[in-house]
Amino acid sequence: MSLGPQQSACSLSGPDVAALNQTIADQSPQTVLSWLHENGDKTGGPVPLVSSFGADSVVLIHMVSQISRDYPILFIDTRKHFDETLSYRDQLINQFGLTNLTSISAAPDHLKEQDPFGALWMSDPDACCDLRKTVPLDLAMQDFPGWITGRKRFQTSERSQMDIFELDKGKLKVNPLANWGPENVADYVKSHSLPGHPLIPKGFLSIGCAPCTSPVADGEDARAGRWKGQMKTECGLHVAKG
Ligand code: SF4
Repeated sequence: MSLGPQQSACSLSGPDVAALNQTIADQSPQTVLSWLHENGDKTGGPVPLVSSFGADSVVLIHMVSQISRDYPILFIDTRKHFDETLSYRDQLINQFGLTNLTSISAAPDHLKEQDPFGALWMSDPDACCDLRKTVPLDLAMQDFPGWITGRKRFQTSERSQMDIFELDKGKLKVNPLANWGPENVADYVKSHSLPGHPLIPKGFLSIGCAPCTSPVADGEDARAGRWKGQMKTECGLHVAKG
């Protein structure tokens, strides 16, 4: 997808992003999030948190709510989420008093044309992720210079080298928890008495769409339950673009 004239591009250059990684990237995630919130004039506008309301999502959602209840949050509603995820989303909205959450979804016409039976995930999961996640996010990004993710380096080999600040085809991608491990997440959740996703006790340690998420066995990698039995490890949102 090329950036058209209507797109809100990030104001930061490659060298700016490299300098940010040299300076504030060693700070706490809260400092990174606060910096983003206060420096929309430097980034080219507000940078929203994109959240799946999955297993670890509560950490960043809580952090941004502590900075401002109207910190912008985008939820990609694939229409394939577990009911428990939608209930959890509503619970966190109420508990943290979130006032600026926007759900984004594939256009009804696109769903009708490309996935009329809702079964595309079986035959072509890459096309399904593109339809239900990547395209809606790309459209939403017309209004923003970039977005915040919950990715962490320990999760996959593809993520092991990522910086906290990245520039991806003109868009800023910020990974405040890049340096965190599972113990940091657990400590934060415990110390703030945060509610966990209701499927975690059932063995779901990384939670995406219902058809493509399985529980994992003891000792198995948390993301082993995503697209189990397939080569696919990313939904397309985080595949480097050109
Ligand atoms: S995770 Fe599965 S159901 Fe969800 S968009 Fe991707 S292929 Fe479709």
